[in-house]
Amino acid sequence: MTPTPQSLSGLWPFIRPYRWQVACAGLFLVLAAGTTLAFPWALRTLIDQGLVEGANADVLATKFVELFLVAVALAIFSAARFYTVSWLGEKITVDVKNKVYAHVLQQSPTFFETTQSGEVLSRLSSDATLIQTVVGSSLSMGLRNLVMGVGAMAMLVWTNPWLMFQVMAVLALVVFPSVYLGRRVRRLSRASQDRAADSSALASEVLNAISVVQSYTAEGRETQRFADSTAQALGTSLRRVRARSLLVGFIIVASSAALLWGLYMGALSVRAGTTTAGELGQTVVYVILLASAFAVLGEVYGDVLRAAGATERLMELLHTRSDVRSPDHPQHAPWLVNGSSLVLRDVNFNYPSRPTQQALNGLCGEVQAGQTVAIVGPSGAGKTTLFSLLMRFYAPQHGEVLLDGVPIAQMDLSDLRQRIGVVPQEPVVFSGSVMDNIRYGKPDATDKEVHAAAEAAFAHEFIAELPQGYDTAVGRDGLTLSGGQAQRVGLARAIYGQPKFVVLDEPSSSLDQAGEQQLIDMVTALKKQGVTFVLMTHRKNLIEVADKALVLRDGVQQSFGSRDEVMATLMLQAGGA
Ligand code: ADP
Repeated sequence: MTPTPQSLSGLWPFIRPYRWQVACAGLFLVLAAGTTLAFPWALRTLIDQGLVEGANADVLATKFVELFLVAVALAIFSAARFYTVSWLGEKITVDVKNKVYAHVLQQSPTFFETTQSGEVLSRLSSDATLIQTVVGSSLSMGLRNLVMGVGAMAMLVWTNPWLMFQVMAVLALVVFPSVYLGRRVRRLSRASQDRAADSSALASEVLNAISVVQSYTAEGRETQRFADSTAQALGTSLRRVRARSLLVGFIIVASSAALLWGLYMGALSVRAGTTTAGELGQTVVYVILLASAFAVLGEVYGDVLRAAGATERLMELLHTRSDVRSPDHPQHAPWLVNGSSLVLRDVNFNYPSRPTQQALNGLCGEVQAGQTVAIVGPSGAGKTTLFSLLMRFYAPQHGEVLLDGVPIAQMDLSDLRQRIGVVPQEPVVFSGSVMDNIRYGKPDATDKEVHAAAEAAFAHEFIAELPQGYDTAVGRDGLTLSGGQAQRVGLARAIYGQPKFVVLDEPSSSLDQAGEQQLIDMVTALKKQGVTFVLMTHRKNLIEVADKALVLRDGVQQSFGSRDEVMATLMLQAGGA
């Protein structure tokens, strides 16, 4: 579908808060255009009254002063217009960007499976820049020229209707071809923006995996792949540029024809004595204004269409609705004293991208408050998938998950997620201080709370030895933590808000033996304080801590029950095999 200027109406909600500024900009715009229109009139009186034979020098000087005053007024109004309009452009673009970013951050993982982050980034940068160009300059240029064109036309009709009629006839010849070419520009604009987004997506994927790319010495191939992709984008852009150049050239030829025709007719009537020189001067400037207004409007129309395409894409992004959302009337689960309870009721799930493959099939089980459950199974069994369902990143197609007696689909998403402390498989370290990293989920936590959590997670010791202790910068702009250290920081982050429910996804994978023992000590200690743990693991030592165990294979529940029972059956099966 090709965008139409109406697509810009998607920006209306972003413009509405600034209606006073818009009114101001409109006022300055009209004033500036009006002053421009006063120029030819001042010029005419200058020529007819100041330049005629016998006119005295004072009259001439006064006329020049008048002309200068018009120029000063024009300068003031134009500067004010430029300021207000650019201000609006910047403001509105930033608002659009922030809104889109906030919206994207709330999407479920399904969204990110189908939309690459590079594409989102391209939307945020190049599409938003296009909107800024249009709102912050092209649109005002367009409006100014519209007012000026209409004004010049009115003045021409008033002063010289017959000439005006002829000029209009020539200009009409400009309009039809421009509309045709304009359509073509519009179609190609959207295509070229899409190609640009493709190459950004490609680059971001490769940059995220740069070490893999380099270890396979694939830099050359990746460079080529990027070059192929940009070449495609270039091809489309060049076709757009060609269409646009044709449009611009055509408009200039046609409008000059109109101008020269007007000039010629005017010159003839001055020779015949039916018009004064001043009137001719005035008419010429009005025709120039009119013709240049037409030319600019053609240019601006192209920009407006590009921005319409950009707006459409951003609005598409804004209107994608995450398939997991908080219900309209969420149910609040009671806070249990001794941990959290978890119930799985016939949970069936397949990833939206793989509709035919069941990732989880008929999971049932109950974990009472304060109990710890180990989810055991080989890799690919569905442990991480179960974790994603608990966090409600995805919704099961069938069955339900209850936390503290309430189906999680009925809970407010942030309420649900705040109840759960999470340690993901890959420890994540954000750039910032260690302190900020630990209190990521609750930025207003006190230092004391953070220290306590770090101590419980056996992280305090190594943090204290860092150059600036808790204030040491880590992550991208600072020190790099080892896998085990990052894991401990992740543990501290998960437990410092004193959640009743903690999920550890393969927590010991980056811990050495001592680290694993510390982890077990931590879990045992927190269990005593009434924390329910879900441990996704295949480490035997860690399973020992659990009260219950759920064994998964290929998404199917093999057994669920008390740990000893389950482990005994597993042993038997292993022995029998
Ligand atoms: P585990 O954590 O036990 O190693 P997972 O839960 O990661 O297992 O994976 C279970 C199954 O779901 C695997 O077959 C895996 O290929 C598939 N899977 C995991 N994530 C996705 C995804 N985002 N989209 C489609 N399939 C997935």
